[in-house]
Amino acid sequence: MATVMKLVHRSALTSLMGQHCLSFSSAAAHRAAGIRAGQALPGKVKIVEVGPRDGLQNEKTLVPTEAKIKLINMLSDSGLSVIEATSFVSPKWVPQMADQVEVMKGISRKPGVTYQVLTPNLQGFQAAVKAGAPEVAIFGAASELFSKKNINCSVDESLQRFDEVMKAAKEAGVPVRGYVSCVVGCPYEGKVAPEKVAHVAKRLYSMGCYEISLGDTIGVGTPGSMAQMLEAVTKEVPVSALAVHCHDTYGQALANILVALQMGISVVDSSVAGLGGCPYAQGASGNVSTEDVVYMLHGLGIETGVDLSKLMDAGAFICRTLNRKTSSKVAQAACKL
Ligand SMILES: [Zn+2]
Repeated sequence: MATVMKLVHRSALTSLMGQHCLSFSSAAAHRAAGIRAGQALPGKVKIVEVGPRDGLQNEKTLVPTEAKIKLINMLSDSGLSVIEATSFVSPKWVPQMADQVEVMKGISRKPGVTYQVLTPNLQGFQAAVKAGAPEVAIFGAASELFSKKNINCSVDESLQRFDEVMKAAKEAGVPVRGYVSCVVGCPYEGKVAPEKVAHVAKRLYSMGCYEISLGDTIGVGTPGSMAQMLEAVTKEVPVSALAVHCHDTYGQALANILVALQMGISVVDSSVAGLGGCPYAQGASGNVSTEDVVYMLHGLGIETGVDLSKLMDAGAFICRTLNRKTSSKVAQAACKL
């Protein structure tokens, strides 16, 4: 009986997103249209699911390859159109990603879904293409100290290192996404100047990245600092080429995302079940959970193409595998009902 009740309540919860309940969805659409008209929110948002890479990379428990493949398949079944599947880094740096080739070969590729991978250098790029990656991502930090401490070179030097990856990607016709980390705060430097973020984002854009994801890596941003940073970046890079990547360390991620939407951004990175953590801030929670982002977006009448119920199944699966709790408030509430 308890299981049946849980299912009933869970379907009631997902219907609140306007997915299954017609009478509610028309009212919700009405209100959301009003909000959109007043605040210029986008009608549609592309979610970039980073759980299998950014999320798992920061989880201590080593996940079996089959479980990663199953997770990615469940995520693509939920309707997500971009999934960051793995990283072509050396297993010495990141043991969790040592099975990158097996993962890329094992997943069931769904038409219309982009399975993106992170490539830190030319060697990684070549291995990624060989394993059938249709799209890659590169990264730079907005903080000089972060760059110095992590990869022992300046921000500009670190970007120069990607020149050969960009050249090879252009020749192979592989689209490249760029990440900027520490866009509002850095564990070593503190506050990061918005102009510095704009400079790095512009560099990545002019190098040929089609989309620049602005990452609040340690999750210290607030709607205030986020707006300031985005104001500077949108002067240098078209807003249609920008995405936000928020961590939820201080519970500000959804508010920060809402500010970004109000400023015209329509691409949001998130991680199923809030997988991940932050290696620079002990005890900090990880990426904003995809479930919470989808719940908010659907509540605003914004289309995502994602089935929240299926997404929650994927979150529950990986949490069981990792023997950890989800950080998604939406998933937690659905479990308690
Ligand atoms: Zn992240």
